[in-house]
Amino acid sequence: MLTRITGGHIIDPVNGRDEIGDIWVRDERIVAPPAASAPHETYDARGGVVMAGAIDIHSHIAGSNVNSARLLLSQAAARPMAEKPLSIEPPTFRTGCLYAAMGFTTVVEPAVAPTYALHAHLELADIPIIDKATLAVLGNDDFLLGLLRGRESASAIRDYVAWTLATSRALGIKVINPGGAMAFKFNARSFSLDDVVPFYGVSSRAIVKALQHAVQEVGVPHPLHLHCNNLGLPGNAETALATIAAAEGLPLHLAHLQFYGYGKEGARGFSSAAPRLAEAVNGSRNVTIDVGQVMFGQTVTISSDVLRQFNARGRASPKKWMIQDGDANGGGVVPYDYRAHDFYNAVQWAVGLELFLLIDDPWRVFFTTDHPNGAPFTSYPDLFALLMSRDKRAERIATLPADAIAVTTLPSITREYSLTEIAIMKPAAPAKPLGLSDRGHLGPGARADIAVYSDEPDRARMFRAARFVLKDGELVVRDGEVVQARFGRALALRLGHDGGIARRMARYCEDRYGLAPDFMSVPEHALGRPDPFEGVPCAG
Ligand SMILES: [Zn+2]
Repeated sequence: MLTRITGGHIIDPVNGRDEIGDIWVRDERIVAPPAASAPHETYDARGGVVMAGAIDIHSHIAGSNVNSARLLLSQAAARPMAEKPLSIEPPTFRTGCLYAAMGFTTVVEPAVAPTYALHAHLELADIPIIDKATLAVLGNDDFLLGLLRGRESASAIRDYVAWTLATSRALGIKVINPGGAMAFKFNARSFSLDDVVPFYGVSSRAIVKALQHAVQEVGVPHPLHLHCNNLGLPGNAETALATIAAAEGLPLHLAHLQFYGYGKEGARGFSSAAPRLAEAVNGSRNVTIDVGQVMFGQTVTISSDVLRQFNARGRASPKKWMIQDGDANGGGVVPYDYRAHDFYNAVQWAVGLELFLLIDDPWRVFFTTDHPNGAPFTSYPDLFALLMSRDKRAERIATLPADAIAVTTLPSITREYSLTEIAIMKPAAPAKPLGLSDRGHLGPGARADIAVYSDEPDRARMFRAARFVLKDGELVVRDGEVVQARFGRALALRLGHDGGIARRMARYCEDRYGLAPDFMSVPEHALGRPDPFEGVPCAG
């Protein structure tokens, strides 16, 4: 099957293309223009912008916490139809459809406890169209902390990381409030970089360093994905700055940095520290970040940072929450309503935009709302519009509390994102650190994941409903409507691991759980779905 997308404005920063031209697709892959053969299918992209399918590197779309979030939002869902927050945590099937309509073709679920990996993969397998991957969570688990307490070798930690990646079929490793979730079990209610986990005698700093080294030495393309200590607290920019300094040049990804962009200035002791953070990121080429932008409206926070979620439970809106603890991280689900007239929420909104606009290198900043923690992923088009227009930001700023905006630098920032920067940050940049060289660009050999948008002045409208989306060369979206709900792949690393660690984990799981370790392993048949999967209407 030969397909031609003709006459669109192709923006492919990886291959240096910014021109009106054609893209050719043979079956699932992009190919060089063929010498003579005629296409079986032609899509008219004139007046449109052609980009590689977008990648979301951090979006909570599967797992038991996500399902709890659906249930906790039932009160919000009982609002009048027009106000219903249908897309905050949609059902699996609709998740794929909503992402695809916006031109997204790959999404990473970033917080999968190895003990829940099978359940998360089964849920991901029910999300159509997009390819999915997971990050496995380590860093508050008894086994790793036991290795560190026992001063075991770096190779023991590497073996454990490799075993975890293979068992849970993950694409990388994440650590969430390193040490803090374990300290919570000992009744700690705050935990910072140099605090020490009771009983284990290990600091947060040491956990991060050990995992950073192991992830890199095992050969995982994605650097350690770090949710720092002290999320959401005034003055926590100091924690993020100290964490960046502690990386000492080793690759590190800082998740949802907006939630660490806070100083203690001003009458209320809460201010933006985004300029200092942006400066530190600009000066640290080993660091990538995603922002975790806040957008106003009802949402729900989902996090395995059980300490943070426990402390935040009093601010639940609607007033119900769920905290569960257990092995390693546990988790918490706390509904939250970001209000434009609230001082703190307005500062948070501004901090995210400041980070986007003050970090110079678009190859190291990724679009996220930390779905659904800052906002549902369906608000991306509105975020792109704000970043692309200084006037649009000024309009919004004028409606927000003046004392909040006064403790930020946002009004003074003139930068406007270009379409090229959007094309870098949506598909191209995140593909690199994930090790997904088959996507994020439109060169020959790339997977034919392609989004075509009508180039219109209303950027939010433009990015909300793609004119066409091709997934693996097949048309899945036309004019913002899903026309075919085929199923994508589960992306995982194929790493081997040492036989010694398998035997050791068998003994450990037998001792700790009375179970063989395969209770947490994800078998091949639990990944993905038959492809294509036809005949299912995309509604829900
Ligand atoms: Zn997150």
